[in-house]
Amino acid sequence: LPVVAIVGRPNVGKSQLVNRILGRREAVVEDTPGVTRDRVTYKAEWLDRRFSLVDTGGWEHSAKGIDRSVAAQSEIAIELADVILFVVDAKVGATATDEHVVKLLRRTTKPVFLIANKIDDPSHEVEAAPLWNLGLGEPHPISAIHGRGVADMLDAVMEKTPKISAVAKHEIGGPRRVAILGRPNVGKSSLLNKAAGEERVVVDDVAGTTRDPVDEVVELGGKLWTFVDTAGIRRRVHMHQGADFYASLRTSTALEKAEVAVVVIDVSQPISEQDIRIIELVLESGRALVLAFNKWDLLDTPELEQMERRRFLEREIEKDLAHVAWAPRVNISAKTGRRLDKLVPALEQALENWDRRIPTGKFNAFLTELVAEHPHPLRGGKQPRILFGTQASTRPPTFVLFTTGFLDPGYRRFIQRRLRELYSFEGTPIVVNMRVRE
Ligand code: GDP
Repeated sequence: LPVVAIVGRPNVGKSQLVNRILGRREAVVEDTPGVTRDRVTYKAEWLDRRFSLVDTGGWEHSAKGIDRSVAAQSEIAIELADVILFVVDAKVGATATDEHVVKLLRRTTKPVFLIANKIDDPSHEVEAAPLWNLGLGEPHPISAIHGRGVADMLDAVMEKTPKISAVAKHEIGGPRRVAILGRPNVGKSSLLNKAAGEERVVVDDVAGTTRDPVDEVVELGGKLWTFVDTAGIRRRVHMHQGADFYASLRTSTALEKAEVAVVVIDVSQPISEQDIRIIELVLESGRALVLAFNKWDLLDTPELEQMERRRFLEREIEKDLAHVAWAPRVNISAKTGRRLDKLVPALEQALENWDRRIPTGKFNAFLTELVAEHPHPLRGGKQPRILFGTQASTRPPTFVLFTTGFLDPGYRRFIQRRLRELYSFEGTPIVVNMRVRE
């Protein structure tokens, strides 16, 4: 989905606007100061267009001062979003902080909309006029609280929002799109450098050197691949507060653009909550998944300590990653380059299965056999029947079952399991939905 980001200094009404666009009141809850929001992107819709809405307000509690945190918000929006909504409080007018943001926004070639908020009455519209001076074009007067002007503004925004998502572009051609994900220091940047075939110097991103997101096309295994959002990987974020927010925002937006995710895990460290959360985001996104266990060079020694770590890792994988046992696992060393070539077949297999379509006839034969062998358990003397099934879509494979009643969750899991046993579906999530016919 295209990404629309909302930036602006505190109290201009960004969260109000998010709520207004999402059409619900409770979308953004009040934060405890110092705690960044968990949720950073929301699925939004306007007319028939779907997009991902990002509220950069999660940065506001940075101890670094308003200017720094607003600058960080803007840089992130510039890096990750397709369209930027810059919200100004028209009642207050442009402040020095606003001017600071404007300087940053002027550097991007992406569409920027200047939103003059708190114009609660038509007679106030003149108050937006001085904002022309910011040099960002026409101010769009709105009242986020009352909804005035929001529809017109969204119409204008949608006109500038790319219609085709990066993922859809593949269907027109071009290399497959890969996101490299993982918590900091697992070796994403090293992996990218090795894959790109050269050791690149990663420069510290000083404010002012922000660039547009760079997708890098890399040749691997005789094929071209697009690594998405590599600017985010190369960029070294030295912020203490807000770093988590940045990381999950980066993960979500990279997933929007990718077809397959490589989640990099550092084998020298215990598998953490954060690793699991990143995998969770991939599952939610419905993208294909490959797990890359990196820094294997550190464990490839006969010493006792390493042997124990290896054994412990196996147990961790069994325990913490059982739900993604279908994802191909490759043991690599981004540092030495060892076994990096194993990544390609894993990616290919994951994508092939992600794209895979099971013909309806075959799928129904599978269902018939499965039901004959393992009928749904009786429930109150009755038994829901599966009338018919079909694969409704690919990317990821999504099946629909037409039934005479709700199937038990356990039975649905059983169907999923059997589908995987029969068709493997290595590397892709699969979805089984139900339609109950009365
Ligand atoms: P990123 O934050 O995920 O991009 O991680 P980096 O690529 O910057 O790597 C973090 C640190 O781990 C650096 O010091 C790397 O040199 C080191 N590193 C990355 N890959 C490997 C590896 O395969 N083996 C070893 N021993 N160190 C690695």
